[in-house]
Amino acid sequence: MAKGPTVVRTVKDLRKRVVKWHAKGHRVALVPTMGALHAGHLSLVDQARKTAQRVVATIFVNPAQFGPNEDLSRYPRDEAGDLAMLRTHKTNLVFAPPIDEIYPPGFSTKVSVGGLDACLCGLTRPGHFDGVATVVTKLLNQAGADVAIFGEKDYQQLLIIKRLARDLDIGTEIRGGAIIREDDGLAMSSRNKYLTGQQRQMAPHLNATITAVAREIADGAPPADAAKEGGRVLAQAGFKVDYLEIRDGATLAPVKAKRPKGARVFAAGYLGQTRLIDNVPVPAK
Ligand code: AMP
Repeated sequence: MAKGPTVVRTVKDLRKRVVKWHAKGHRVALVPTMGALHAGHLSLVDQARKTAQRVVATIFVNPAQFGPNEDLSRYPRDEAGDLAMLRTHKTNLVFAPPIDEIYPPGFSTKVSVGGLDACLCGLTRPGHFDGVATVVTKLLNQAGADVAIFGEKDYQQLLIIKRLARDLDIGTEIRGGAIIREDDGLAMSSRNKYLTGQQRQMAPHLNATITAVAREIADGAPPADAAKEGGRVLAQAGFKVDYLEIRDGATLAPVKAKRPKGARVFAAGYLGQTRLIDNVPVPAK
């Protein structure tokens, strides 16, 4: 059987490897994850492999990005399964630190990206993006990779990470990876494991609805009307709708004009306790 990726648990060991690769002239790509891997994560690894000779994945369930009533304690964890998947996708190194390697006693710094976090998931999950921005800043600094790949599944997160990397002069290029979906359109997510059989059957309505909204807007429907109708459809399908909004794909500014360029449809909703998110571009006509 092929050898699995080397696992390191300390920043020192991570840096040692990356410095060695850079000394040999190898380009290094980073793929941060919280584990419980699926084909969406693996597509980012494959994308990383296409652009760099060495691929580092990180597995760290970041407590700082979970709210007090969120699912930190039951978030799925399966390091052995993750390593087996990463092996088949030729990952060179896995950084899977314990919590105090990332947050040593006395840790007291927070990275907060203003503006971009003041809408969509930022409203429902106060502090979430500060937690994400802080840990991602640390991971980028720790690895010193040439490029890091983040999924468009978490589109607002991707924009926030691009912004922090630019604002803080982090030398790692941030790239987005396409959303990988189940055959019925449901965006893959580690949290899909929480869905009951019945909820799993309802879940594809999220993507179907925002795809229909995107098409209507491309056909000339006013974005506000299409969003309102989409929210109604989603609620009828059994979702407790958090938001369904049309925003600019670069700035997240609300979009009001008909036939907008570069707009996306963003939605989040609950099936029971499970919160699902998705987004699609409004197609150009
Ligand atoms: P997570 O483990 O959920 O924190 O996700 C780690 C990375 O994988 C993030 O950059 C996510 O945006 C990305 N990701 C999660 N689900 C998908 C998906 N279905 N398709 C593409 N990327 C994804």
